[in-house]
Amino acid sequence: MNKSHRFWPDTATVKNKAVYKIIQALDDSQWWQKERLAALQKQQFVMFLNYAKKNTRYYSNLLKDHQTFTDDTLTDEIIRSIPYTYKKELQLQNTDFIVNQHDSRFGDTNEYSTSGSVGTPLNVTWNQYANTYTLAKTFRYHQWHRSDPQKKFCSIRVLPTEDDGTVKIIRGRNWYPLIPGGESVSQSASIPISEQVAWLQKENPSYLLTYASNANALVEYTRKNNLSLPALERIDLYGETMVEGLAERCKEVLGCSLADKYSSREMGEGATLCPESGLYHIQSETTYLEVIKSDGSRAKEGEVGELIITNLHNTAMPIIRYAIEDYAEVGPQCSCGRGLPTLRKIMGRSRNMLMMKNGEHLWPRFSSHNLHKVVPIHQIQLIQTTFDTVVVKIVPINTLSEFDKVTLREEIWTKFPKEISLEIQTVTEIPRSKSGKFEDFRCDILSL
Ligand SMILES: [Zn+2]
Repeated sequence: MNKSHRFWPDTATVKNKAVYKIIQALDDSQWWQKERLAALQKQQFVMFLNYAKKNTRYYSNLLKDHQTFTDDTLTDEIIRSIPYTYKKELQLQNTDFIVNQHDSRFGDTNEYSTSGSVGTPLNVTWNQYANTYTLAKTFRYHQWHRSDPQKKFCSIRVLPTEDDGTVKIIRGRNWYPLIPGGESVSQSASIPISEQVAWLQKENPSYLLTYASNANALVEYTRKNNLSLPALERIDLYGETMVEGLAERCKEVLGCSLADKYSSREMGEGATLCPESGLYHIQSETTYLEVIKSDGSRAKEGEVGELIITNLHNTAMPIIRYAIEDYAEVGPQCSCGRGLPTLRKIMGRSRNMLMMKNGEHLWPRFSSHNLHKVVPIHQIQLIQTTFDTVVVKIVPINTLSEFDKVTLREEIWTKFPKEISLEIQTVTEIPRSKSGKFEDFRCDILSL
C-alpha cells in the first residue's frame, strides 16, 4: 500500500481526541519492523502479567510461584510455562478474573454476555480503556479496506427476537466509528436466502456484514438466479471460519471484495484480513497471539497450532494465555509492507476436526461449494457421531435420487479416510446455533 493513501478517511474529522491519538499511533506502528513491534509488545505483556497477578484472585494464585516479571527475565520458556486459561475457568470462576479494585483511570466497566457456539453463556467485563482500543482498531479495519463512511451499510446476522417471536429490522445511522455519516440496516439471518437477496436488492447497500456460510449461500443464490447487487462493494465477514474460495466467487459473481476479522468477546479483535494479500495480520499492538503446536513448541511459518491469546489492554478482566480452542496456520511476512505478523489460515475449533481412532485429528477439507456442483443442495452439515461414522445432513433443492446419494458420497469420500462410513440424512432445515455460527463439520464424539 502506498503510505500516502493510508488515511482513509481523513482522521482530522475525528472528534474524540483519546481515540484519535490511538488511531494515529496504530497508523504508524503497522509499518514498524516485526522486531520493534515484538519488543514493545513484550513490555506491555510484562506489565500486564504483573498487573493481573497483583489485582486478580485468579492470577495471584496461578502465578504465585513467579517473582515480579521483568523484560530481562521473562524468557520464552517462562511464558510457555504459564498454564492456559480455558473458557470453563472463566465461566466457573468468573469473578476471580475481575480486578479487585476498580481503577477509575480506566473508565467505566461494562459486562457483556456471550452465548458462544456451544450455547454456554459466558460473562466478560471490559472497561472504557479496552473499548477505546477496540474502537481504534475498528477504525483501522475500515481504513485498511477503504470504507466510505457516507455509504450504506447492511448487516444480516442473528438479531434478538421480540416477545411475539418476530425479529425487528434495525435501522440507524453513523455505522462508521467516530465519523457521522451513512445509513445502516440490520436484517435477521434466519429468513430464507431468497428473501435475504430480495431485501438486499431493495436496500442496495455498499457494504454487507454477515457470516461466511451466509455470504456463501447468498453468492450461490445470486449466481444461480442470475441476479445482481449493483451497489455492493464489499462483504465483511465475522464470527465463522472463512469458506474456501469465497473471495474469488464474490469477485466473480457479485463483483465485490471480501474482508474478514478474527475476534471474540473475550479477547477483542485478534487478526484482520490484509486488504492486499489475503493473509490475516495479527493485531500485535493490542493482542499477544501465540500459535502453539501439540508438543508445546511454537508453530513456525506453514505450521498449524492452537491459538493462545492475551488481550493486552482489558485491565477490568485480564485473561492471560486464553486457549480459545481455535487453530491457525502461521503465515509469512506480508508483501504489503506492514510489519504486523500474519496467519495464513484460521481453521476453527478443535471440535470442527475429524477424530481418528488412534487419537489423531484431521481437518476435513470438503467444500460445500464443490458438493453443490455435484448435486443441488440448500444446506449441508457433516457430524461425526462415532470414530467410523459421519452423518451427512442435507437440505436438498430437489428430492435426492439414489444416484445423487452415491455421487455425493463419492465426492465427500475424496476428502475423508475411506474407513469412515457416510450416512446421508435428508432434513428440511439446518438451524444456526444460538450465537449465529454455522458449523459445516462438527465432531460430536464426547471424549474430544
Ligand atoms: Zn498485509
